[in-house]
Amino acid sequence: MHIVLLGPPGAGKGTQAEMLSEAGDLAHVAVGEILRQAIREKTDLGIEAEMYVEQGELVPDEIIAGVIEERLRADDAQKGALLDGFPRNLTQAEFLDQLLKKLGLSLDAVVYIDVPFAALIRRSTGRRICSGCGRVYHVEFNLPQRDNVCDECGGELIQREDDREETVRNRLEVYLEQTGPLVDYYDERGLLRRVDGDQSIDEVFQVLKTMVLESHS
Ligand code: ADP
Ligand code: ADP
Ligand code: ZN
Repeated sequence: MHIVLLGPPGAGKGTQAEMLSEAGDLAHVAVGEILRQAIREKTDLGIEAEMYVEQGELVPDEIIAGVIEERLRADDAQKGALLDGFPRNLTQAEFLDQLLKKLGLSLDAVVYIDVPFAALIRRSTGRRICSGCGRVYHVEFNLPQRDNVCDECGGELIQREDDREETVRNRLEVYLEQTGPLVDYYDERGLLRRVDGDQSIDEVFQVLKTMVLESHS
């Protein structure tokens, strides 16, 4: 089972992918997380990607293609994966079609998490992530048990560089221009499933669990 989670920055893709991957024993393929880790570790990928990520622009397709191919070839991604943050434009969507075919896999569904733009700024600017394990929290909507400490690993919570309001606004524009057209692309192929993302984390999860896990088991 290979599923794409589509939606604007702050829609809840990462949060839901994390919960679904645990519940359904699927790999969580989070391109943004792979890039942030590479940037922290100053690998070649990190050095190439840093400027784009900081400015809220898309990292060039050739670079992302290599990242995604390596990730989807990994053992844990063979029986199923949730693609979080990829594809983000038409070139990447076409690349994904070809890559899955080459690997003998197929795309089962594309879940579009729909959240009104007005709610997205607050979600992104209030987001905090664990500096140790990358787990996602929110200053209003998803607090850790202890102030600023990750429930999972005890790491310190930090704000992402690109979650400052100005960069968030740019990321929303990039989304509208480049990623938005994928909604039609997948709708035309009969793969699109819409979910109302303007509900609590648990409510969205209940809907997704039924849609994604129970319909495919
Ligand atoms: P994305 O991966 O789509 O950018 P995240 O999963 O990182 O989104 O969520 C963005 C922020 O909003 C995080 O701080 C997260 O805790 C919070 N969040 C996620 N889903 C919801 C929800 N349904 N209601 C309120 N806040 C949410
Ligand atoms: P969000 O879902 O909140 O936008 P991500 O963690 O998915 O955050 O992405 C963070 C940043 O990583 C993006 O703004 C972009 O710079 C880069 N990035 C992530 N996925 C891709 C992709 N598929 N193509 C190009 N750049 C990407
Ligand atoms: Zn942690």
